[in-house]
Amino acid sequence: MLYEINEKAIQLENQGKRIIKFNLGDPDLPTPPEIVEAAYNAMKQGKTKYSSAAGEKKLREELARIHGVSLDNVVVTTGSKWAIFSLMFLLLRKGENVVVPSPHWTSYELGAKKVGAELRFLKRNLESDWKVEPKNLEALIDDKTRLLILNSPNNPTSKVIDDKTFGEIVSIAKSKGVKILSDEVYSDISFVKAKSILDFGEDNILVNGFSKSFLMTGWRIGYAIVEKELAKRMIKLNQITTTCVPAFIQYGALKGLESRKKIADDIRRQYKLRADAAYSVLSKSKMQFSRPDAPFYLFPKVEGLDSERFALDLLDRGVAVAPGTAFGDYREYFRIALTVGENKIREGLGKLCEALP
Ligand code: PMP
Repeated sequence: MLYEINEKAIQLENQGKRIIKFNLGDPDLPTPPEIVEAAYNAMKQGKTKYSSAAGEKKLREELARIHGVSLDNVVVTTGSKWAIFSLMFLLLRKGENVVVPSPHWTSYELGAKKVGAELRFLKRNLESDWKVEPKNLEALIDDKTRLLILNSPNNPTSKVIDDKTFGEIVSIAKSKGVKILSDEVYSDISFVKAKSILDFGEDNILVNGFSKSFLMTGWRIGYAIVEKELAKRMIKLNQITTTCVPAFIQYGALKGLESRKKIADDIRRQYKLRADAAYSVLSKSKMQFSRPDAPFYLFPKVEGLDSERFALDLLDRGVAVAPGTAFGDYREYFRIALTVGENKIREGLGKLCEALP
């Protein structure tokens, strides 16, 4: 349905209709110019050949330094999406299962299904402020559970798992012998401090990327921090599939890391203004929602709503949102991605409020 809405939005645009697009997590802000410049310079210097399937040494060294791990723990991947899919492909077998707190990013579900694994969702709710309840998580784990996926800050709720809960979950996973894959792509730009899986030692897996925290969605670069043997297996898989992330792109990313804090601070500041603008419009409506801890999403609920129908009808009013069903069993919810400027946010959300049943 996510893709159907997007296709229809594009079709309408092609017919000359103006659509305010809240449906995709692709930030409108441009990639910082120093990153573009560094990639261009790298191209001019001939960094245009096949390169290491593990990633450029300089980039891996810098990532290793930032995360306090060794070079052998770092694998550069074609977006964090490829890191996640590779890990599922390498770690999961038919008949095994993966536990995921829901609502969840659609790709975890589609990826796990593609490798034949069973998904077990921990249903969270708005009423408890989207809390992940460790005891309920534990009840879903059995001897066929191989992976637990955490995503804090979360897409689509923008909520961060609090430190105490995070610690409890790590202990449970450890006691059950289950690996955690922690997808932290929104972490650097979070409004509140989000714990990292690496704060609890190196037994688990960190996946991160440059798409959100360096505004590099189209560049396709991410990475995983994993134990050495698993890193070797990921590198082999890169060799037989994507070969490498183009080296000039890695030099762009490396440049971004030099001003990591400044870039993240800028993004955070702009998205905080947007989140506040959206919050003030939505607070006057009958929607129920939680205050976001991070960019870019709001995930409101309207009692009795069929969000698929709503999202399709809303397109005729020039506004695109993603129905809640794209993120699990959440028909009464929809996701608003605040990836347009403040004026458009006010205009689009105004139209959206008028369209509410
Ligand atoms: N994880 C989450 C939670 C996401 O929302 C996204 C992108 N929407 C990704 C990973 C993928 O990002 P990338 O562009 O690095 O593949």
